[in-house]
Amino acid sequence: MKSTSPHTPPSISTKPVSEATEVFAPHLKPYADQINGLRRVGHQLWNRGWSLGTSSNYSVVIDRNPIRLLITASGKDKGHLGPNDFVFVDENGKVTSADQPKSSAETLLHCTAASRCGAGAVLHTHSVWATTLSQHFFQLGGLRIDDFEMLKGLDGITTHQSSCWLPIFDNTQDIPALQAQVMKYLDEHPEEKCWGYLIRRHGLYTWGKDLAEATRHLEVIEFLLECMGRTLRR
Ligand SMILES: [Zn+2]
Repeated sequence: MKSTSPHTPPSISTKPVSEATEVFAPHLKPYADQINGLRRVGHQLWNRGWSLGTSSNYSVVIDRNPIRLLITASGKDKGHLGPNDFVFVDENGKVTSADQPKSSAETLLHCTAASRCGAGAVLHTHSVWATTLSQHFFQLGGLRIDDFEMLKGLDGITTHQSSCWLPIFDNTQDIPALQAQVMKYLDEHPEEKCWGYLIRRHGLYTWGKDLAEATRHLEVIEFLLECMGRTLRR
């Protein structure tokens, strides 16, 4: 006999976003491909548990000179981003017209990755491993990951006998101050290849020359963080 447990969790849609019948605002329609790319990535990252509770933000660079980004609007469910849940911002993180929704709180960090690290796409996520390891390694200023085959998924790495340093910055709600920390690190370490960084008890920023590379970097770094975390727990 079938019975329904009172503890059965509510069903959560895991269907990918439906793109065929949706209407884009006129200013966003020319960028439908980029928007749908970000929506598909958002659904994937939400399914992985890395972008829960409306956390995270994602962007792609639309123009390079001067820099203009298409970024997720603030407070949206990243598993089910709508066609109009996106904002254009300039190189200073300001929305480019007043009729757009508010951009993500951490927009300035996307601008820095675009202007200083050559990013064509930036992904920021709040996974459990990034959150916990950023606390564990905070006093060391960062986390070094070496001698893993999966390092070869990072741009420029061709052998497991390589090393990836992820700096860790302290968390703050003062995003210009956080941006200053990131820029100071980049200024002081011009020779150190930077694929991303952690923010203490908060999450991960990574990027790539395009959305596909940024997604690959995110998957690789998350895999490596989980390896590091599981090894620590032994
Ligand atoms: Zn965040």
